[in-house]
Amino acid sequence: MIAPTVLALDFDGVLCDGMKEYFQIAWRAYCHLWPLTDPTPPPGLAEQFYRVRPLIATGWEMPMLLRALLTGYSEAEMGEDWPGLSQRLVEQERLTAATLAAEVDGLRDQWIATDPASWLAEQSLYPGVAERLAVWLETVQVVIISTKEGRFIQQILQPCGVDLSRLRIFGKEAKQPKQQILRELKAEQPDAVFWFVEDRLQTLHVVQKQPDLSDVQLFLALWGYNTAAEKASVMGDAAIHLITLPQFCDQFADWY
Ligand SMILES: [Mg+2]
Repeated sequence: MIAPTVLALDFDGVLCDGMKEYFQIAWRAYCHLWPLTDPTPPPGLAEQFYRVRPLIATGWEMPMLLRALLTGYSEAEMGEDWPGLSQRLVEQERLTAATLAAEVDGLRDQWIATDPASWLAEQSLYPGVAERLAVWLETVQVVIISTKEGRFIQQILQPCGVDLSRLRIFGKEAKQPKQQILRELKAEQPDAVFWFVEDRLQTLHVVQKQPDLSDVQLFLALWGYNTAAEKASVMGDAAIHLITLPQFCDQFADWY
């Protein structure tokens, strides 16, 4: 493989570990939907949540993960068919995806508006990533493509000493799916060599299906938010390379 000239990176689950923030938001939403006399999360619940979080596709499912855990479903049962189980739970509780999404988004907006410092403090770069970004920014074009707001990405990177002037960020405000952003970047530089690192397998599969993006090398970040079943499903898929965090923080020749 030829080394990249443009390195396109997802943010959460690749550069940044936002799991603590996810749990905080999920717990706040849970307490709002199912009021408790004691709003302290039970011991061990956060760790259980971290393990099952990769099962979900969208943020509104997070309080339902907690509902399932706290009403006695095992992690194994949840892993068997989370889409089916979450649907049944949502119906049982007389909720909808839309109300759950409004709940989660509203609580996050409120947290950001009232205490942005504590919100940012729940998110940190994975070990070695800040150092590696500094190396890349000297040698390749780095583009971050994320569903998180670009301004939040900047606020997380800035204290880590990342030179933001050399970095392009396409966040939620770009209002474009990732494949479309990649397509536009490629149109700008038809001769560039693109590598794309993402932790969500479904997103990689979408990019994989675009005929005009077939020369983009795809990497699944094994340290991010994907399940053991998803990891296993990619073994032997020549089009999607599996990459570990130590490989990611090493030279490109060690990525595959
Ligand atoms: Mg991600």
